[in-house]
Amino acid sequence: MNLDRFSQGLPDPQDAEVMAYCEGCGGEIYPGEDVYCVNGDIIHAEWECLVQYIDPEFKTIEEALGVA
Ligand SMILES: [Zn+2]
Repeated sequence: MNLDRFSQGLPDPQDAEVMAYCEGCGGEIYPGEDVYCVNGDIIHAEWECLVQYIDPEFKTIEEALGVA
């Protein structure tokens, strides 16, 4: 008999209802998770997800300013 799952504070992700999908990584977002809201889109409150969502171009400052 295994009572481990009942002693945990957080709900088992396997059983938790999916509230939304992250617009960054595409992963599932469960109740009680922190998220970022950007223009109505929901993203995990993680830099990784935010960067994937924004998908910024990586350039030098000279390229960005067009002075290269
Ligand atoms: Zn995510």
